Amino acid sequence: MQQEVGPETMWGLGLSESEAARIQEAVGPSFALRNYPEGSGLLRDMAREERPAVAWIPLRAWQQLTDGLRQDLQDLDHCQRVLLQERDTEPMELEAVLEEGFLTALHMPLTRHKVQDALFRAKEVTSLYSDIYSMTEEIFLERELLKRKTDQLLFLNRFLTNASSSLDPSEILSRALEDLALLLPVKLLQAAFWQRNPDTGEAEVELLLDSSLGNGLEERWVEFLLETTVRHEGGPVGGFQVERMDAGGAALPPDSGRSLILPLAGPQGQFGCLALLCERDVRLAKDQVQTLKSAVRHLGLALNNARLYREVKIRADRDGLTKLHNRNTLDNRLALELKRSQRYGSQLSLLMLDLDHFKQINDTHGHAAGDMVLREVGALLRESVRSCDIASRFGGEEFVLLLPHTSEEDAWKLADRIRRRVSRRRFRFQGRTITVTVSIGVSSISPGCLDQDNDLLLRADQALYVAKANGRNTVATAGTCKTESRVAQEG
Ligand code: GH3
Ligand code: MG
Ligand code: MG
Repeated sequence: MQQEVGPETMWGLGLSESEAARIQEAVGPSFALRNYPEGSGLLRDMAREERPAVAWIPLRAWQQLTDGLRQDLQDLDHCQRVLLQERDTEPMELEAVLEEGFLTALHMPLTRHKVQDALFRAKEVTSLYSDIYSMTEEIFLERELLKRKTDQLLFLNRFLTNASSSLDPSEILSRALEDLALLLPVKLLQAAFWQRNPDTGEAEVELLLDSSLGNGLEERWVEFLLETTVRHEGGPVGGFQVERMDAGGAALPPDSGRSLILPLAGPQGQFGCLALLCERDVRLAKDQVQTLKSAVRHLGLALNNARLYREVKIRADRDGLTKLHNRNTLDNRLALELKRSQRYGSQLSLLMLDLDHFKQINDTHGHAAGDMVLREVGALLRESVRSCDIASRFGGEEFVLLLPHTSEEDAWKLADRIRRRVSRRRFRFQGRTITVTVSIGVSSISPGCLDQDNDLLLRADQALYVAKANGRNTVATAGTCKTESRVAQEG
């Protein structure tokens, strides 16, 4: 059904009856003239933002208006004004007419042609105005959009730079939290990385948790992230370890807001996920979601690089056969621990181990059997020390254990325990049983001992020589502060 459209409104201001009739007659029934005897009614309709096709205003009425109302009329963009001048008045200069904000001036008598022409021009100008107005609006919108896009690009640029400027996953994630907080109300950012163990088929998981969480909260996040891992990884979890980072997140449980789980992927596919705890009512616009996805995609690549770097570093720092620290790492840590020991007066001990008659094992059972023994002795040493100790392969069938905060007495006890464990161990190789023994030299630095020789390696080597000379399968101490050497043997 077609909607009925009423006549278009025109305004008149102080028109005489005959003028009004003349205009109405000239424009026909599609226009309705509303003539205001004076300004007040007009003011009301102006306030309603009515959009008349044109306003007809005789000069005498214009001159009687207050300055304020005249100004208000001049400011009306959506309504063109036509000035009507009486026959016997001095015609106003065109410039003056325009200056007063009129589209044009008509001289009496008002012919049909003049009225129609003025109305036509008024409508043309109004439609031109409205075109310009909507174009300006569009430009404003475009500018807003452009500003938003620029902000997002700046954000991404900052995010990408920060994510790529470190190879430490904790540092990368801490910066990511700071940056993402600019985009959405995120309170806590944590991550889970996983790797499927090809032997067991289970996922080994590493959780990076904010150090602000207390014990109870940490447990809840561990549970939450392990469940998330199972869901994303699609297999059982074999084991997990927790690393803590000082990201500055809030100590909140997983259900205290909305948790956004975002996949972290590298070139080989997904290897983890990011958990963002946000305010419950967080709403993201489409473009913000896109920006977040781009940011997290890049974060995945940066974290993947950090993980690869860590693997390479482990390979460079460790011995390939035994997976113990290599000689280079030992040298670095030894220098560091010596400095610490000197600065804080803490105890430091070192064990040098050498497998006895190892050549015979190679000769009797083959080199592969020798390798297997070395590997297993390596594992045994790793299991025997604390996490702050450094277990290293010094070369061939020799190992060094660096034991910070350990007295000579305790180092000796550990050495003897290791000696016994090795000698009792039955190594199996291709159905054969192999046994081996170890000789160990112990050297130590004790606080308050001024004349001690700090060359722990040399003194441990000398003690090892003593242990070998005493018949092997033996522990010998180098003796600190001029104490006597001590030798322990199986007994
Ligand atoms: P000792 O009790 O005096 O220490 O006798 P030993 O036979 O252990 O000492 P020696 O220094 O004569 O021989 C060390 C042997 O260790 C010789 C070498 O073939 C073997 N060896 C060193 N590195 C490796 C390795 O990576 N794999 C294997 N299978 N053998 C190794
Ligand atoms: Mg040797
Ligand atoms: Mg040997």
